[in-house]
Amino acid sequence: MKTVLVIGGGITGLSAMYELQKWKKENQSDVRLVLVEASDYLGGKIRTIKTDDFIMESGADSIVARKASTMSFINDLGLEDEVVYNETGRSYIFTDGELKPIPDESVFGIPASIESLAKTTLVSAEGKVEALKDFYTKNDTFTKNDSVGALLEFCFGRELVEKQIAPVLSGVYSGKLSDLTIASTLPYLLDYKEEYGSIIKGFAANKDKFQSGERKFLSFKNGLSSLIDAYEQTLEDVEIIKNTKAVRIEQTGNRYQVSFSNSDLIEVDQVMLGIPHNEAENLLPDQELKQEFNQLRNSSMISVYIGFDIPDQVLPLEGTGFITADSDQISCNACTWTSRKWKHTSKVGNLLVRVFYKSSNPKFPQLQRMSEGELLQFALSDIQKSLGIKAEPVVSVVTDWSGTMPNYSIAHPKTVLAIESKLSLNYPGVFIAGCSYYGVGIPDCIENGQKTAEKIKSGLTE
Ligand code: FAD
Repeated sequence: MKTVLVIGGGITGLSAMYELQKWKKENQSDVRLVLVEASDYLGGKIRTIKTDDFIMESGADSIVARKASTMSFINDLGLEDEVVYNETGRSYIFTDGELKPIPDESVFGIPASIESLAKTTLVSAEGKVEALKDFYTKNDTFTKNDSVGALLEFCFGRELVEKQIAPVLSGVYSGKLSDLTIASTLPYLLDYKEEYGSIIKGFAANKDKFQSGERKFLSFKNGLSSLIDAYEQTLEDVEIIKNTKAVRIEQTGNRYQVSFSNSDLIEVDQVMLGIPHNEAENLLPDQELKQEFNQLRNSSMISVYIGFDIPDQVLPLEGTGFITADSDQISCNACTWTSRKWKHTSKVGNLLVRVFYKSSNPKFPQLQRMSEGELLQFALSDIQKSLGIKAEPVVSVVTDWSGTMPNYSIAHPKTVLAIESKLSLNYPGVFIAGCSYYGVGIPDCIENGQKTAEKIKSGLTE
């Protein structure tokens, strides 16, 4: 009898096990399927925290709705009746002491029409004129492996990038635009430049793909953990071991012996490492591999949810939140007006906000040393200065994601290939998977779990 071990019960590991269990049933295989998870709950970076009045997500808060694969896994798990969509509404940039709207017809802050550029209040007249060079500059040098920041600056000039695009885009992709590749962020920008001679014209020609006002994200009535619970309930034929860490993998002939933190040992034929790269590198005692793993980068984030006993009409403007551009007045990088954006998160429509601090923030080292109580006070002071709200909170959840958010550098794809080829040469049957390597979005992780299961299945039929 063959044994497959998945290390890590995040969404990637769960999706891989779901596929493997399905295959096992269809093929009446006797393969033993084991999943080991370090903490006492499954889901990893997906975890819903509920109180009587509020639903909060300590990690991911939503799933991109327009990905083709998204509805298929939701239907497979029977969650279609649980789906809720985000409310659409304006977002703002906090700059010069006030909230200024991100203009209509913009995608990640990039103008998607000439009118959008003309009307923005975030950029000076000179900055707008400079941005017009998008219509007449020609790209002879950029490839998809170049920095997205450099391409945007080449097309639109510095001011528009700094004041309007960077606050939005680097927030979404957690990193400096100069360090992020076109391929890993918005590969279609280069296609538009090539096909239409201008990014703005490209967006205009593909308008229906970027309809603003569209409900772009989804969650579930009882929070994102519904997805994890549904997977867990389905995996009846998988031995799930929680509260136990995999600590070492050793080759024994053409199998592997994996040691757990509770001193148990398991002999397996194939192993999927569905865990962050900085954990994976400790499992295989291999210096060459370690060097490759060390090339991969993580960034950090602290999020503070605050719930109040006041209706969310107290917010000063319509809309769903703001991002901070360089500001002396407040310290947070962004603030989502959660009860506005996600109606299901507040039972009676009371105000729930989520305040974000990212590792790019100059105050981040200071914040990392603070207690949860101090972080809450810090966030409350940002709320007061930006939104004018002085009420006492009734609920708060502080989550420190230090060193856990994958940050794909320009060298990322090359490093992942190097790890894959070293593993297949020296450790056949050991596979890396998940957000450290193949995309951070939940649908990407689910697809990657499925693809990794395909590789494992081929190994099982050899
Ligand atoms: P993880 O969720 O990291 O799971 C890995 C699991 O492995 C963990 O449960 C961990 O405990 C376990 N583990 C680690 N080491 C060991 C070991 N040695 N032995 C056993 N188990 C081990 N994505 C979206 O699509 N939408 C969002 O809105 C969104 N927002 C996010 C907000 C935050 C704050 C964060 C942190 C992430 C967000 N993401 C979002 C990204 C998304 O949540 C993650 O990329 C995805 O959940 C990662 O899943 P994973 O299974 O690859 O890894």
